[in-house]
Amino acid sequence: MAGMKWWGWGLDGVEFSHEDKPALAPFIRERIGLDVTRPTVPPPRFEQLDVPPSRLPDGLRAALERAVGAEHVSVDALDRVVHARGKSLRDLVRQRRGEFPRLPDVVVRPGDEDAVVAVVRAALDADAVLIPFGGGSSISGSLEPPADEARPVISVDLERLDRVLAIDEHARLARIQAGALGPRLEAQLNARGWTLGHYPDSFTHSTLGGWIATRSSGMQSDRYGDIADLTRGLRVVTPHGLLVVRPHPAASNGPSVREMVLGSEGRLGIITEATVHVRRLPERRVILGYLFPTFADGLAAMRDIAASECQPSVTRVSDAPETQFSFATRKRPTVLDRLQSAALRAYLRHRKGFDLSQMCLSFIGYEGSARHVARERKAVGRIVARHGGLCVGAGPGELYDQKKFDTPYIRDFLLDRGVAADVSETAAPWSELERLYDAVNAAGHGAFAQLGVRGYLMCHLSHSYHAGACLYFTFAFDPTPGGDLLAEYAVVKRAIQQAFVDCGATLSHHHAVGTEHAEWLEQDLSAPGVRLVEGLLAGADPGRNLNPGKIV
Ligand code: FAD
Repeated sequence: MAGMKWWGWGLDGVEFSHEDKPALAPFIRERIGLDVTRPTVPPPRFEQLDVPPSRLPDGLRAALERAVGAEHVSVDALDRVVHARGKSLRDLVRQRRGEFPRLPDVVVRPGDEDAVVAVVRAALDADAVLIPFGGGSSISGSLEPPADEARPVISVDLERLDRVLAIDEHARLARIQAGALGPRLEAQLNARGWTLGHYPDSFTHSTLGGWIATRSSGMQSDRYGDIADLTRGLRVVTPHGLLVVRPHPAASNGPSVREMVLGSEGRLGIITEATVHVRRLPERRVILGYLFPTFADGLAAMRDIAASECQPSVTRVSDAPETQFSFATRKRPTVLDRLQSAALRAYLRHRKGFDLSQMCLSFIGYEGSARHVARERKAVGRIVARHGGLCVGAGPGELYDQKKFDTPYIRDFLLDRGVAADVSETAAPWSELERLYDAVNAAGHGAFAQLGVRGYLMCHLSHSYHAGACLYFTFAFDPTPGGDLLAEYAVVKRAIQQAFVDCGATLSHHHAVGTEHAEWLEQDLSAPGVRLVEGLLAGADPGRNLNPGKIV
């Protein structure tokens, strides 16, 4: 985990800049009233923090050293702070403020499954708390120890379990260790001509085990499936021993234990390995940009694509505010870019009758043989045209594909300037998406008005399914002068989340429950549903040693 920022997203030294994006500073000033040149409040230096000392008992330390080797047991202050939380807005603000009510007492890095078994045994013997740690990219408060936890807290970092162990080429299944980060996992598969095809925006800093434990979804889920679809077999070290879910293609063997582990956020055990679907690297991969007259047209086109025989790898359409934001983040355009863009705008306005303020940008990805890609592009093109849209070529799609892993750095850029920015995402049936979109916009803008702040709220549809899709909302606002950023953030976040469940949508499509979304669990699952989850967790972990306080 060397180099991971303790106060923000990504690696030390990598930062977002507005300087190569000439339209961005004016855009931000106009939409939320922020002058990006205002004095920044950067995070404090690490040495300025008051880091509480580790409370690790000597006996437990000795047992952990026996389990994983002394060099893989760390009570270093920076290590403990990096492992204290994930990367939700609340996490980052409190890290920057140096608020550490309860840090892990120790970080251990087991090198194989036997070592994980020994760590779990040592923790249970000492009645300690275990928190599995993958990439630390949780955005729902899934990693922080409870503030009042009196027992020793062990963060179990799986980073050394990072190998692809075997590929069954006939079954197209790969056995992969749970601590493999996205790039490491794909590099090993790609070297042998295979891919998992799971690309969350956090890909560079998240792991297979973390994806499974949060029910993650990647940008190409339309073709490859969510991690829940990709995962077939599992090995999980639990308080009752090693849980093995064999990689059946399907099974009628009672309630699905595989599904119980998916989304379990470290509360049932530590996943050491998974057997997952893999596919041959595609011969061809292209992401095309499209423009639609309105968001409603874009939604209708995505719905028709899902209902058609086509199976693109990516279907994504931004609403008008997100489209305008995307255009504002373009790098310095060349003279040719400017001429082309002016010609396109004139064409859209005068020939196609677009109201440019309502126009929506979409990306649709295709993969497979050259023939397959050509056929799908044609069929999708017809659906897009039926909804008034048109293709604008591969340029915008390539740009999106390149910058998608850089965009997360913008949140720290805004936070340095005192601005709160975050996301909330959900899923609902196709028939409900427009009503949901309107309700969330009303709730979000209502919250901005209640606070008396200028805020920005934007949305895109991504991850299409047979019956519906995910709507992903991003919001940003400049808090009131002297106001408490986190208290005001909670007003906006809660309004949006409440609108989700009030509309019958889920509390999260792929960011998990953690502590951030736990208050909406009963409204999402019903009271008996929550009782089932509580019973499962209590039965699997009677001592509440595994990541207590998350989900319920
Ligand atoms: P961690 O954050 O380390 O842990 C998350 C939870 O899983 C914790 O409860 C932890 O205890 C548990 N866990 C981790 N490893 C194991 C294990 N081996 N065994 C048992 N439990 C374990 N999510 C998406 O799905 N799609 C996205 O596009 C996406 N984009 C994001 C962009 C940004 C900028 C950020 C900050 C987050 C994003 N996320 C996204 C959320 C996050 O990346 C996912 O939840 C991810 O799956 C977490 O993986 P991780 O390895 O970082 O897990």
